[in-house]
Order: sequence, then C-alpha cells, then structure tokens
Amino acid sequence: MNAINKEPVRSDDIRALDAEHHLHPFTDTQALNNKGARIIERAEGVYLWDSEGNRIIDGMAGLWCVNIGYGRKELADVAKEQMNQLPYYNTFFQTTTNPATQLAKELAAVTPGDLNHIFFANSGSEAIDTIIRMVRRYWEVEGKPWRKVMISRNNAYHGSTIGGTSLGGMSAMHKQGGPMVPGMEHIRQPYWYGEADGQSPEEFAQTCAQALEEKILQVGPDNVAAFVGEPIQGAGGVITPPPGYWAAIQKICRKYDILLVADEVICGFGRTGNWFGSQTFDIKPDLISMAKGLSSGYQPISAVAVGDRVANALIAKGGEFFHGFTYSGHPVAAAVALENLRILREERVIEQVRDETGPYLQQQLRERLGGHPLVGHIEGVGLIAGMALAQDKSTHKLFDSNLDVGTICRNHCFANGLIMRACGNRMVLSPPLVISKAEIDELIDKALTCLDLTVKSLA
Ligand code: PLP
Repeated sequence: MNAINKEPVRSDDIRALDAEHHLHPFTDTQALNNKGARIIERAEGVYLWDSEGNRIIDGMAGLWCVNIGYGRKELADVAKEQMNQLPYYNTFFQTTTNPATQLAKELAAVTPGDLNHIFFANSGSEAIDTIIRMVRRYWEVEGKPWRKVMISRNNAYHGSTIGGTSLGGMSAMHKQGGPMVPGMEHIRQPYWYGEADGQSPEEFAQTCAQALEEKILQVGPDNVAAFVGEPIQGAGGVITPPPGYWAAIQKICRKYDILLVADEVICGFGRTGNWFGSQTFDIKPDLISMAKGLSSGYQPISAVAVGDRVANALIAKGGEFFHGFTYSGHPVAAAVALENLRILREERVIEQVRDETGPYLQQQLRERLGGHPLVGHIEGVGLIAGMALAQDKSTHKLFDSNLDVGTICRNHCFANGLIMRACGNRMVLSPPLVISKAEIDELIDKALTCLDLTVKSLA
C-alpha cells in the first residue's frame, strides 16, 4: 500500500518512479535503472520479503546494523510514546532531554575503560567527523596545535562525508570528489591472507604494526594526533587482525603519546561477541565511534564515547566546542536506542553470540565452505565473517577484481533468497545477532549453492 495516498502501487510503477527520481548511494544508477531496483516490503526476525513475495534471509543485518533483528514492536511503541511526549528538542545551548541523558549514562556503562563521556550525532560518518575535529581540538587545548595528522589504514572504511572519506583508505573513493582533507595518512592493512607474502600471522601482525611506527617517524611524532582503526575492517572485507596486532599498535601509540581511536560502527553492540570489538581484541581506546547497532538501525543515531583524558581537558580548558548537529541526541532516536540496549542486555543477546551462535557460525563456515574450490580462506569472530575468493588456493592468488567474481556470487545469492555482500573479491556475512543455529544452517546451505552457481558462471 502507498503510505501517502493509500492506493495500492504496482512494483513496476515504483521501479519507474525510482529510476526517474531516486539517486541511490553506492550504486551505478545507469546499471540499476536498466534492470530496476528490488523492492523490500517487510521484515521479521532475520528474514526480508520483497515485492514479489520472495523470502530472503538477511545475512548482512541490513548494512551490518539490525542487531536485534527485524520486527521488534517494543521499539516502535517507544518511538510512538516519545513522539507524543516530545518529538524533538535539541541538546545545544545548555538544554537536554531525559532520553539523551539516560542513553549517555548507559553508553558510559557499557563502553570499555574510562570512556565516560558521550557526544551524539546521527550517522557513523558524523561520529567520525566529530572525532577528527574533537581530537584536533584536544591537541589545540593541550598547547600542541601542530598535532593534526590522523593515521588510518588502506582499505579502511570510515564513512562517506568528506572527513570520513579522507580518513578512510578506500582508493576508489579517494579518486572521486577530491581534493581530500589534508593531514590524513594511511598505512598497510593487516590482511594476512592477501598480503602477508609467506609470513606467519604473528610475524605479519608485527610487520603491519611496524608500518605505523615508520609512518609516525616519517610524519614526525609530534605532528600526529591519532591513529584510527576498526577492530575488524568490515567494509574492507572483514579483515580480521592476526594475533598480536592490536597489542603492538597500542604499544606504539603509547610510546609516541598518540591517541588511539577505535571505529566501532560495525563491531559495536555485540557483533564480535562482546559489547565492543575493543573488548574482544583487548584494545584500550581513548575514543570510540559507534552507530548502526546502537539502535539496531531502527533510528538514525550515532555517538562518540570519549575517555576522561580528552573529555576532561576539553571541559576544563576548551570553552565552547563549535560543533554539533540539529539532531544530536534526538529524543526519539535516543529512546529507541535505550530500548534496543535493554533488549540486548535482558535477552542476553551478546552472550549468546559469544558462547553459542558466534562460534557455531565460524565453525560451520570453515567446515562446510572452507573446502569449496572458490573459497581461499575464512576469517572473522562472533557473527561477522569474510571469505576470500581465490583463483589459486595453493598460492593465495585471489581473483582479479575486474572479473567481478564477488558481484557474480552476490547476484546469485540475491536470486536465491540470501543477502551476502561482496567487498571486491571477498564475500562477507554479518547477520542479525538473534539468528538461530537452524537459521545459520539455512544461510550456509544457500551460500554453498550460490558458490557452486558462481563456479558455473565462471566456466
Ligand atoms: N565507520 C565504519 C567502520 C563503518 O562501517 C561505517 C559504515 O558502514 C561508517 C563509519 C559510516 O557510517 P554511516 O554510513 O552511518 O555514516
């Protein structure tokens, strides 16, 4: 039904209108318009239904975000109640609302270490832009305004605002819409399967951490503001750091007094089996960004959690921070996020990922797909996993990205009732955290079928 005029609308009409008026993110619009968009109509648990009535298992939780699964009416009820009581007020100029303050308190409690202070925004990209400005402001307040350089990694994704794009390490994004923001440096990613050149995972972890120290020395230690990394690089293809990587990175940051930022937009809220990826990898960040799982995608909301060191300096010496968004701490989004946190906590969703479904997914993927002729390597932890599509498994040679093998596989998945995303020549999975073992079995059955179909397509 059409929400505006209540007239039934045919899918083909929607597609025609979409082609005429809708510019989609991360989409080749011409290619899309040639075939028309797939229309998703409703969802429940881990399943989506499209306008043709097909049931699809969502192996990506939307865009890595619907952690509690679809169809939780409690969140809709809370949103309605909050809209009726106070649909909007801002948190600028010495005001607050109860949901925003309660959420800040809850987040301070679940984040690791002394991340006791919360700044709200609406998207992961805005959280990252907030961090760029806040970290640089911190060093100004500390009397070292020359500390501007932010170091991140090749193939990292930190959003698509100009700040997020510049900080991120996606070369295809850097080529569009430049120039990028100055003062962003990139080092190699800890992609053991694709880039280790014969080193053991442990050796390679040290090599990659060493790249940080080399970059710091090249830029000049006193010019570096922060190092930023996702605990696991999600959109880069679920690049999971080899053992020892984060410990070595942290040591180097401490040695040169460089702030450590964990971008938890994907890893946060249970994805890796703990509240945050930082806990899974024993990272002690000075700041973290979060979004997605914060509201399970039911409302747009993001946040930056700031440790005592940075927050106390900004509060004591920084005066007004000229930064914020109309919807920072939006009361409806905050109320929905609070309800989402309640569900995660009371239903022990994260413990279930850590103890049951996470290990099960990882083990089943390796057991059932690891030997497939296309699958070179499987990595991940909890309910996030990546698979390298290898042309030659013995040499770790991956398919040339021009062959678009990932896209071929993704399209087979789409046609066969599974959402599995392609990141170049890697396939990735990040299902809702409430997925059951039986649903994991179904997901892997479908993935297997689609990998076989991909082999046929390549023949
Ligand atoms: N940081 C990471 C690690 C992400 O994965 C994303 C989005 O996928 C972002 C930042 C940007 O978030 P958003 O799309 O909400 O702006």
